[in-house]
Amino acid sequence: MPSELAILNIRQVASPPKAGPLRGKEMSFLEIKHDVNIAIDGGKISYVGQEYVKADQYIDGSQLVVIPGFVDCHTHIPFVGSRSDEFIMRLSRKSYMDIMKAGGGIRSTVKEVRKASATRILAESLGFLDSMLSLGVTTVEGKSGYGLDRENELKQLKLLRALDSIHPVDVVPTFLGAHAVTEEYRSAEEFLDLMAEMFDDLVGLTDTIDIFCENGVFDEDQSRQYLMKAKKKGFKVKLHADELSASGGGKLAVELGAISADHLISADDETLTLLAESETVATLLPGTSFFLNEPFAKGRKLIDLGAIVAIASDFNPGSCNIFDPFFIIFLAVARCGLSVEEAINAYTVNSAKALCLENEKGRIEVGYDADMVLIRAEDYREIVYSFSRDLVEGVIKNGKRLR
Ligand SMILES: [Zn+2]
Repeated sequence: MPSELAILNIRQVASPPKAGPLRGKEMSFLEIKHDVNIAIDGGKISYVGQEYVKADQYIDGSQLVVIPGFVDCHTHIPFVGSRSDEFIMRLSRKSYMDIMKAGGGIRSTVKEVRKASATRILAESLGFLDSMLSLGVTTVEGKSGYGLDRENELKQLKLLRALDSIHPVDVVPTFLGAHAVTEEYRSAEEFLDLMAEMFDDLVGLTDTIDIFCENGVFDEDQSRQYLMKAKKKGFKVKLHADELSASGGGKLAVELGAISADHLISADDETLTLLAESETVATLLPGTSFFLNEPFAKGRKLIDLGAIVAIASDFNPGSCNIFDPFFIIFLAVARCGLSVEEAINAYTVNSAKALCLENEKGRIEVGYDADMVLIRAEDYREIVYSFSRDLVEGVIKNGKRLR
């Protein structure tokens, strides 16, 4: 029987060399194949090799580099509302307090998300997913965290479910009720108790709980109490860790066996070493450092120590209005010290690991999901060198060509 789709005579296939996750030195290699054919059946890759493949539909790969679809394991979709005013204020060196007084900061997005209809949030978020897909992103994690009360947190999680079922991009939902404390609560503890009371209602909506662990928001002890409750209920946990200050989030992630610790800009050497010896994915979000004009996480050091490193966009309306994987990879290479190969592994197989999808996504290998980016180039290294050109010739998602 002919295959459903075949890509023939591919100039270059560049894929993570083995099943994920990859750690330390393993991250520095990609498996490179030339003049190969790929067959796709039932949304999966059914053949990679040099034999001719009979298929119902063909794509000529002779001018193409093919890589796995990008897995963006940290975004704050769904949301609505622009915070461009705040961005301009920050560029003109207005203080955080000035921005808050002018109605900016996370609270402005919370206000927008609370008052917006589900239809409007859905429509805007579908637009983001369209744009991301056209840039080769085939799987996206999205978080609640702009509701910050029971009704609106559940609204966001249900919207993430709806996005996943409507849009071809796979959307993985995470509960980030513990994102910030709004003025209606007396203390962080009171707020976290309320969010923890929601855990039973999250079953069927998400299996992962995230927290913004930061001195002055939810400190290490508060985060530990909260995430222990989540673990007791059977949830996987992850953390926004050591972003603005060394707050203990990275260490706590290792202690709790978190699936990932994200940001890590301010993590100290002891934390980086602990992470490197653990199964917790260290997720770098260099777009945020760039957008806020802040230091970058020590990606080079983490890999040299042997960590499982992923990269993601952190796409959100306040601290990183960027979702372009080519630009994020450029930043990871140019500012965090990763090699091109490490950055591609970090945005595919290792970011899939951060979502516990490493057996299905992030590689071009028989049995994996047929999610691929077709790039107009002679060599995969163009991804970094020519990041500002639109190199994407096509995107295959679940075996269907969508661009
Ligand atoms: Zn985030």
